[in-house]
Amino acid sequence: MSDAVFPRYRGSMEYVCLGCGARFPGDTLLYTCPACGDVFMLEDRDFDQLKSTDGPGWRSRFEARAAGRVPALAGVFRYYELIAPILEEEDIVYLGEGITPIVEASPRLRDMVGVPFAYKNDGQNPSASFKDRGMACAFSFLKWLCRCKGWDEILTVCASTGDTSAAAALYAAYVGPPLKSVVLLPQGKVTPQQLSQPLGSGATVIEMPGVFDDCMKVVEHLAEHYRVALLNSKNSWRILGQESYAYEIAQWHGWDMSDLCLFVPVGNAGNITAVMNGLLKMRRLGIIGRLPRVFGVQSEHADPVYRYYAAPKDRRSWSPVTVRPSVAQAAMIGNPVSFPRVRSLAERMQEEGGEKAFQIIQVTEQMIMDCMILANRHGHIACTQGGESLAGLCRAKELGLIGGNERAVLDDTAHSLKFAGFQEHYFANDFPEAYEIVPDPALANRPRLLAPETARGGMDAKAWTEHAAGLMAKLLDLKAVPQR
Ligand SMILES: *Cc1c(COP(=O)(O)O)cnc(C)c1O
Ligand SMILES: [Zn+2]
Repeated sequence: MSDAVFPRYRGSMEYVCLGCGARFPGDTLLYTCPACGDVFMLEDRDFDQLKSTDGPGWRSRFEARAAGRVPALAGVFRYYELIAPILEEEDIVYLGEGITPIVEASPRLRDMVGVPFAYKNDGQNPSASFKDRGMACAFSFLKWLCRCKGWDEILTVCASTGDTSAAAALYAAYVGPPLKSVVLLPQGKVTPQQLSQPLGSGATVIEMPGVFDDCMKVVEHLAEHYRVALLNSKNSWRILGQESYAYEIAQWHGWDMSDLCLFVPVGNAGNITAVMNGLLKMRRLGIIGRLPRVFGVQSEHADPVYRYYAAPKDRRSWSPVTVRPSVAQAAMIGNPVSFPRVRSLAERMQEEGGEKAFQIIQVTEQMIMDCMILANRHGHIACTQGGESLAGLCRAKELGLIGGNERAVLDDTAHSLKFAGFQEHYFANDFPEAYEIVPDPALANRPRLLAPETARGGMDAKAWTEHAAGLMAKLLDLKAVPQR
C-alpha cells in the first residue's frame, strides 16, 4: 500500500493509569487517574494489529511519506500510526514542526570531546523548541475532540518554564476559536525572549511569584475543578507527539540504532518519557532491532531523577528536591510530573536493552555553561539545555560509560537565541553567585567600538568611510595589497 494519501488505519486510544492500571477511553480530557491520582500513558488498544505489517514494511512506508506531499504527514504525523491514529486529516495542525536537522559535531569539537556525536537541533522548530512536537499532537487532538463533541469554546492552560507557553500560545493562535490560550509563568524565571513569544501570539499571560513547581500546582488545581484543557506534559497527547523525536533519529540512521547513545536533558521528564516510549514502540513492531542507550542529564541544581537512580536498586526512594537557580532554566524542576512514567519505561528499557540502556548523568552548572559556549564557538546553535546534553556526554566519557564504536546524538532542545542572556552573563562575568559559574575569560566576546560618534567631526561620507576602513585595518592588523 502506498501512502500518497492519508493512512487508513484507525486505532483505539485509551488512557492507562501507571498507578492502578485503570483504563479510560481516549475521547475525553483526563490528566490524572480519578481512582488513584497517578499519571497516564496513552495506548492504542489495537497496537498489535500493526504487526500485520513487518518492520521493513513500516520503514518503507515512513520513507515514502518523507517523499510525499501530504501536509498533514509532513511533520510529526509522518509516523501517524505510532502517534495518534484516531485523528482525521482535517484535524491535524502542521506548523512546520519536526523533521529537525541532525548536524554532525564540527570535527574539531568532536576531537576535543573524544566521542563522535551530532546535535539534533530541536530549536529549529517553529517556536524554537521541541515543545512544538507535543503541541502539534495536543492541538490536533483538541480540534478532533471539539469537532466530535461539538464544543464551541475551550480554554487551554499551562504552567511553563518558558517554552511550553511559547508553543501552546503559537498553536492556539493558529487554530483560533474554539480554542483560547492562557499561560502561567514564574515571574522573572523565563527569559525575555520566551516571555515575548506568548505575548506576541496574543495569549493571556499571567505571572506569579515562585518557581515552575508552584505554577504547576495552580494549573493542576484549575484542571481538576474547572472546564479547561491542561497543556503541560501531564497531558499524555503531548508525549505522543514528542515520540517523533526518536522516530526521526531512527530514520536518519537507516533504522539501525545499535551503537547510538541519546542524551536528553531532564526537567519535567516528559521528553525523556517520549523518547523511551517511542523507542520501545519501534522495537515492538520490528522497525528497529537493538535499542540505543538513553542518558538523561540533570544539573546538580535540579536533580531529583539523578538522585533517585544514584541510590542502590533496593534502596531507591522518590523525593522531590528544592531547586536552586540553573542556567538550564527550562529544566529547573524539582518535582517532575512524569517521574512515574520514567520509572516504568526505564525498567522496560533495561529489561529489553540491558542495565546500561538507561542512565542518568549529573552535571555542574559550570559544565553546562562551558559546553554551551564551546559548542556554539564550533558552529552549533545550542541553548543552555543543549549545553547540558554535551556536558552529559563529556561526563559519561569521563566516567567511562561510553566508548568503543558508540556515537552520541545530543538533544539541543531549544534555540540558543532564547537563552542569550546566559551567554551575556558569561561574557560579562556577572553571573549571580547562586549559579556558581566562573566564566573562562579567554572565551569572553564583546563588541568593539571602532570610533566614537564624535570622531567623525566634519568629515564627508567618503572621507569618513576611508577613515573608518583605516581604523579597522589597524585594529585587525591587515596587510595592504599593492595599489596599481
Ligand atoms: C521543556 C524543556 C526541557 C525539559 O523537558 P522535560 O520534558 O520537561 O523534561 C528542556 N529543554 C528545553 C529547552 C525545554 O523547553
Ligand atoms: Zn489509577
